[in-house]
Amino acid sequence: MPAPLPLPALHSSHAGTWLRDANGSTRGLSKGEAIMAAADTPALILNAPLVATRLGYPDLSGLDLLELYAFVFPAKFCVPTPKGLAHALGLEEPASDDAVPALLQTAAGAILEVCESENWEQRDGAWSALQSLTKARWPWAQVLAPHIRKPERAERWLFSKLPEWDESPERPQPAQIMMDDSEVEAQLERLTGEGAERRDGQRAYAKAVGKVFAPRSSQKLPHVLLAQAGTGIGKTLGYLAPSSLWAESAKGTVWVSTFTKNLQRQLRSESRRAWPEKRADGTQPVVVRKGRENYLCLLNLEDALQGGFGGRAAILAQLVARWASFSRDGDMIGGDLPGWLGTLYPKRGIAALTDQRGECVYAGCPHYRKCFIERAARASAQADLVIANHALVMINAARGRDHAQRPSRIIFDEGHHVFQAADSTFAAALTGAEAIELRRWIIGPERKTKGRRRGLAARLADVASYDDAGGEAVEAAIEAAQALPSDGWLQRLNDGEAYGPLEKLLGAVRALTYARDESGGQEAGYGIETEAAQLPGNFVQLAGEAEEALARIRHPLVKLGVRLEAIVEDAPDWLDGQGRARIEGARHSLAWRVDLIGAWESLLNRLGGPSDPQFVDWLAVDRSDAREFDIGIHRRWLDPMKPFAKVVLEPSHGVMLTSATLTDRGPDGKDWESAVAASGTPYIEVKPQMSSAESPFDYANRAEVLIVTDIKRGDLPALAGAYARIIEAAGGGVLGLFTAIRRLRVVHGRIADRLARAGLPLFAQHVDPIDTGTLVDIFRDDPRASLLGTDALRDGVDVPGESLRCVAMEGVPWPKPSILHRARRAAGGGSAYDDRLIRARLAQAFGRLIRSKDDKGHFIVLSAAFPSRLLSAFPERTPVIRLTLEEALQRVAEGVSGERRSAEVPALDIDEDEIPF
Ligand code: SF4
Repeated sequence: MPAPLPLPALHSSHAGTWLRDANGSTRGLSKGEAIMAAADTPALILNAPLVATRLGYPDLSGLDLLELYAFVFPAKFCVPTPKGLAHALGLEEPASDDAVPALLQTAAGAILEVCESENWEQRDGAWSALQSLTKARWPWAQVLAPHIRKPERAERWLFSKLPEWDESPERPQPAQIMMDDSEVEAQLERLTGEGAERRDGQRAYAKAVGKVFAPRSSQKLPHVLLAQAGTGIGKTLGYLAPSSLWAESAKGTVWVSTFTKNLQRQLRSESRRAWPEKRADGTQPVVVRKGRENYLCLLNLEDALQGGFGGRAAILAQLVARWASFSRDGDMIGGDLPGWLGTLYPKRGIAALTDQRGECVYAGCPHYRKCFIERAARASAQADLVIANHALVMINAARGRDHAQRPSRIIFDEGHHVFQAADSTFAAALTGAEAIELRRWIIGPERKTKGRRRGLAARLADVASYDDAGGEAVEAAIEAAQALPSDGWLQRLNDGEAYGPLEKLLGAVRALTYARDESGGQEAGYGIETEAAQLPGNFVQLAGEAEEALARIRHPLVKLGVRLEAIVEDAPDWLDGQGRARIEGARHSLAWRVDLIGAWESLLNRLGGPSDPQFVDWLAVDRSDAREFDIGIHRRWLDPMKPFAKVVLEPSHGVMLTSATLTDRGPDGKDWESAVAASGTPYIEVKPQMSSAESPFDYANRAEVLIVTDIKRGDLPALAGAYARIIEAAGGGVLGLFTAIRRLRVVHGRIADRLARAGLPLFAQHVDPIDTGTLVDIFRDDPRASLLGTDALRDGVDVPGESLRCVAMEGVPWPKPSILHRARRAAGGGSAYDDRLIRARLAQAFGRLIRSKDDKGHFIVLSAAFPSRLLSAFPERTPVIRLTLEEALQRVAEGVSGERRSAEVPALDIDEDEIPF
């Protein structure tokens, strides 16, 4: 047992607050006393922002063990709870809240012991980092200093330590091959391993997938497969088998695209069955690839380390630098950087270290050859399997830098999310926040901030001095960009002092949106919107002026693009390979901006005239907690699968969309028609193949759907009471799903303390200052914990086993009646469209409950009026029971038992619909 660190330790939960003094005696104390104590002497705490929220004292500071952990064990996973910390350090977990302060002291002692040990794996660079952290006044620096010895030889700093990537030749075209069924089956057997149970559904599925890889017979007509794959059929290996076989035989690259990070992680591990970690030549056959905004930008980090970040953010930069030298791939969002690290520091610290705004200078960057983003891009060009996400695949197809790297064989797993991803990828939004980004990209930041954030002139200084026309175009763009909103625009709009055509237009958007607000105060504090129709003359005039101003920015940018192209084609002597790559990079980002401005112009152009039925346009003021944060005009495709079909499907050779909920199951059975319509294939006149494999899970005996009919809609105290009692009856392990953040917060506020006192911790999205991925980790780690959340949890939680025993929905998940929804509802068949949406949501939510054949549990909907026509959302044979809360609690407390149920209740016991649509 390590010696505890003799410093006071503070812990606060919903059940109370405890302080242990340096001498080892623990006492409970009031929040006020705790705040005073922490102000007197810095105390050991775990997750300062969370403790601060519990104490209601945002300025709380202390010695946060999570920061210490991040320093000593960079890139190592830890669930940020007392129990999680104990597990990560091999200590005994605390039995109760009052034992936590003692654990914090022991954990700190244990971590310091590691620093002294010869076997500390992450020692390299620690001493040097600590010197910088001392200067940055990191509270832990003084405590750590005596435990980390100075190395005999100077440590190399991160930027010289990271390996360089190698340039590699382009991959030749894949061979055109046919795979026969027996080969696919043999490959599947190889991957599932000898002795694995033979699953016919999985075999049929794998063979159907194999057909997607056949040579295409007509240009622009890819093979498309829509594959409904019930949970548990072994879908991943089912498609990895034909994919790996094709990649090996054809020497081509297969892209598997997912929506959630969970599935990416799972794919990474399952792909090990088909491919080794590295090939004989050291290259990687499997590469995970994400959007560039996910990765650490080394140039941004260097700026941050050299004074670009101050105060607490400077400490974050040092810890990120520690992590970067141990990271697998530099992925900051969902990779091996702990998700909780960013939440310990000022907002946007992590985002500022990524390349969010396309400011990359490519080969002009001193770290180009070590850049994580460039490394991932190069590795994926040589890979057999690229694991990506829907957004990246679509962005890559729409505006990828390199045609040769565009995916041609794509498997969209979690295919039911393709619509949503296409919806945001092909959207246009002219908002203040977007416009100010463009301004900064062209002009550079207004305030004299430290660091490299520079405008176009600085980035292309050499071009401007060499090529007069190019130089003039840069100047003209900078001058025209003065018309864009600048810092403080929201305040100026509030004060009625909008400056320039764009700010004036945004002022008019704001005024009109408030004028037409029909929410009757219901949306107080949240976003409001109004349709872009029947716009007054002065509004249309302002839109016209803004459109002209945008055109004045776009023209010189187009000219500049032409000049850059000319320079690359007729290269001057000074233009070496690096310079050429930099100009290529600049051309790419220019083209992207030119397209963006063009989309804004066409959006504005439409405002005065007849509306285009392909699009839905609206004006919106985005607010959070009654604070406005953005204002603008939005445009979505009525059906985003139309551009998806053109941009993604048409150029591909083979595409599959697969999911457990690809097809709707209406009262009349499986609905392939709407699945085909939603796939985008009708736009390119491709007839997709269809396949379906049913889940092998025994839903009849392992799950129950309980529809609780005595909680009235809108009765928040009753709703909160019901949640508390369900969580108590289940003994935790409840995932509570809400459609409105407001109600989630009220329910959490009413019940968290009561549950905590019963030893049932409750966590909540939008309440706890913890990122969603970490909340799920915490939930997974503690079978007595429960978690409340909204959409992201309904779709992305994969918690097999004991930790998730019950899913409780606050009601029927009706779609939010937004302007966009209204338009799609009208185009999609009215209430039938809504029914499909709701069934899909219910099916997704239900899907969280049974993740493996050994899982069992209850799915509860608190709804006095649950229409029968929605019940087909649940897997066939799942018992559905309408009952009172009391009866439901009894069933939850007893647990699911197929034997009891089949003896006692009918499999289906449904009233008639109570509310007509
Ligand atoms: S190449 Fe671009 S993304 Fe990479 S480190 Fe340099 S500036 Fe950042």
